Amino acid sequence: MTVVFVETDPAGEVTLTSAEAITFARSQLLPDGGAATSREVSGPPSGSTEGVVIGPLSDAAVDALGRLGVGVIHHLEHPELAEYSAAAWAQAIVDVTPESGTLLASGTPRGMELMAHAAVRTGARMAANVIAVDEEGLLRQVHGGTAFERLRLDGDLQVLTIAGHACTPKETTPTIPEIIAYDLTVAEADLATRVQRTEVEAADDASGLTSARAVVGAGRGVGSENGFAEVLELVDHLGGALGVSRVVTGLGWRPHAEQVGQTGSRISPDVYIACGISGAIQHMAGIEGAKTLVAINTDAESTMVQRADYAIIGDLHEVVAAVNEEIVRRRG
Ligand SMILES: Cc1cc2nc3c(=O)[nH]c(=O)nc-3n(C[C@H](O)[C@H](O)[C@H](O)COP(=O)(O)OP(=O)(O)OC[C@H]3O[C@@H](n4cnc5c(N)ncnc54)[C@H](O)[C@@H]3O)c2cc1C
Repeated sequence: MTVVFVETDPAGEVTLTSAEAITFARSQLLPDGGAATSREVSGPPSGSTEGVVIGPLSDAAVDALGRLGVGVIHHLEHPELAEYSAAAWAQAIVDVTPESGTLLASGTPRGMELMAHAAVRTGARMAANVIAVDEEGLLRQVHGGTAFERLRLDGDLQVLTIAGHACTPKETTPTIPEIIAYDLTVAEADLATRVQRTEVEAADDASGLTSARAVVGAGRGVGSENGFAEVLELVDHLGGALGVSRVVTGLGWRPHAEQVGQTGSRISPDVYIACGISGAIQHMAGIEGAKTLVAINTDAESTMVQRADYAIIGDLHEVVAAVNEEIVRRRG
C-alpha cells in the first residue's frame, strides 16, 4: 500500500505539489506500494493509493483526492495538531502507516521534515528528492538537481519525498474516497516544537512565480537595488513574474519570496530569461524545469550562457531596454 501525506493550502485545497506526489504514487508504484527492491512497474493501481490529511478536510479536497485516484483518506484531527508540530504530526502519520509499503510526501520543507521524522520513528529507510521508480530501483536528484543517483532501499517500508515537478498531476477515473477518522492521542513530548504564530505576507511581485509561463530572472548583474527598472518593465510586457538570485535577496535588493533556486522556488516556465545571473548550481537547481532558457550576460563563458538555448552577450540594462523598446514598437 502507498500512503501519501497530503498538504492543503489555507483555502483547504490540495496543493499542486501534493497532487504531483499522488500522481507519482499512482503511476510509479505497485499496488502494494512494495519496496523498490523487487518491483516491476505496472499500470496505475487506482484505489490503492491512500492519503493522510491533518486538520480540516474540505469537500473540495475530498473531491480532488477522489479525482486523483485516492481510495482512502486518513483524516487526522486533534486540537494539539491544529498548529504544525513536526514530531506530533509525524507520529500521527506513523500511527496510520502500514508496516510495509511506501510512505511518501512531496519534497516541500514540510514534507521533507515530516518524512525524516517518520523514517526515524518507523526505522524505515528513506530517500529524498526521488524523481522516478523503475525495475532498477529509485532515481533521485542530488547536488541541487545537477546529478542523479540510483538506489535501492531495504526493508518492508520505504519512506520517500518526491522532487518538485517530478511529474505532472493527472486525474484518473474518479472514486469516492473512504474517509477514516481517528481518535488520536498526542504525547506532550512530541509538542516540544510547534508553530507559535503565522504571518501571511501581502501579495507581492513574487505571486505567481511558480506558475508564471514567462519568468525574468535578475542577478547581481543588475548592479544595485535601483537596477531593476528594465527587467520589471520586461516582466510587465510578458505578463510574467520576476525571479532573482540569492545574491539579490542576500543584499536585500528584493524579497526572499522572489528567490529562485535550491533555497528558493523551483520553477518550470515556458521561458526563463536570466539577466546578469552567472548560473551557480544552486540557482540552476531551481530552473531545470524551464522549457527555454535565455541568458543575457556580459560574460560569454558564464555557466548560464553555456547552458542557455539562446544567449545575448552584453550589458543587461542596454539589452533589456532594447528588447522592451522593440516590444512596445511592435505592439504599436
Ligand atoms: C547552500 C547554498 C544555497 C544556495 N541557494 C541559492 C538559491 O536558491 N538561488 C541562488 O540564486 N543562489 C543560491 N546560492 C548562491 C549561489 O551559489 C550563487 O552565489 C548565486 O546564485 C550567484 O548569484 P548571481 O548569479 O546573481 O551572482 P554572480 O555569481 O556574482 O553573477 C553575476 C553575473 O552577472 C553578470 N553581469 C555583471 N554585470 C552585468 C551586466 N551589466 N549585464 C549583464 N550581465 C552582467 C556577470 O558576468 C555574472 O555572470 C546558494 C548557495 C549556497 C551555498
